Amino acid sequence: MDSLDQFRLNKRVAVVTGGTRGLGRVMAEALAGAGARVAVLSRHADQAEASARELQDAAGPACRGYGCDVTDPAQVTAATAQVIADFGQIDILVNNAGINLRGEIEQLRLEEFRQVMETNVTGPWLMCRAVAPHLKARRYGRVINIGSLLSVVGIAGRTPYAASKGAVLQLTRTLALEWAPHHITVNAILPGPFLTAMNQSLMTDPVTYQAFVNQIPLGRWGDPKELSGVAVFLASDASSFVTGAAIVVDGGWTAR
Ligand code: NDP
Repeated sequence: MDSLDQFRLNKRVAVVTGGTRGLGRVMAEALAGAGARVAVLSRHADQAEASARELQDAAGPACRGYGCDVTDPAQVTAATAQVIADFGQIDILVNNAGINLRGEIEQLRLEEFRQVMETNVTGPWLMCRAVAPHLKARRYGRVINIGSLLSVVGIAGRTPYAASKGAVLQLTRTLALEWAPHHITVNAILPGPFLTAMNQSLMTDPVTYQAFVNQIPLGRWGDPKELSGVAVFLASDASSFVTGAAIVVDGGWTAR
């Protein structure tokens, strides 16, 4: 067997939450490019459908978009059931949808803290719970949770986000243990600073932009495409003995 064959996803179906833009979009493209049929979820059905069409046009495999707010249990149940009805299966779940509300703790409203926790922690938890019976029945699954370098280090002014991403790492480890007997792997990708809409306010302020660059040993922000390889690896048979792991993709930030 060609060693690259183990990275191919031709018979796989992947669900990518927040797959309409940014890192989710790039990972959805990478999975489709490796042969997976991809279900793109976001709160805006029209954008999810448009992204799925573009993925399909570019990569070939059938892709579909679904409106789903990952914080809403009813929408999560309905969307995962619809994906299974449409594609017949789910093999890969990428819990990517996330938000970041920044500010010092006394300037943040409780509602903002809750919103970040709901999206970044409750969302992946609900998605995992919804696919659990299906993955267990098939005795196969690849779950990829998108944490952050803030899963393992702090930055001032990020209490909601860092708390949520620390929880994503613990969700990953705990589910990896819970699902290992079912041959379902659960891993996390911990990205450093990437140039996406989420970081618009940081990118457009030259002082903040440079302050981030100064923290990154590779001396630059990440290009979202630099997550493609690790996403395909964790989604594929190439990572069959990897579970409960967290792969940092941060230009060396957390190595210091
Ligand atoms: P973007 O803001 O560019 O994209 C976020 C995506 O999530 C959109 O598709 C959005 O679609 C979707 N989304 C947001 N809330 C919900 C929700 N409640 N239900 C369903 N979909 C939702 O973010 P990034 O691409 O930058 O970030 C993606 C992930 O990577 C996040 O988890 C983020 O925390 C993480 N990350 C990002 C880093 C970076 O530097 N960019 C660094 C480390 C981690 P819609 O609005 O249509 O719902």
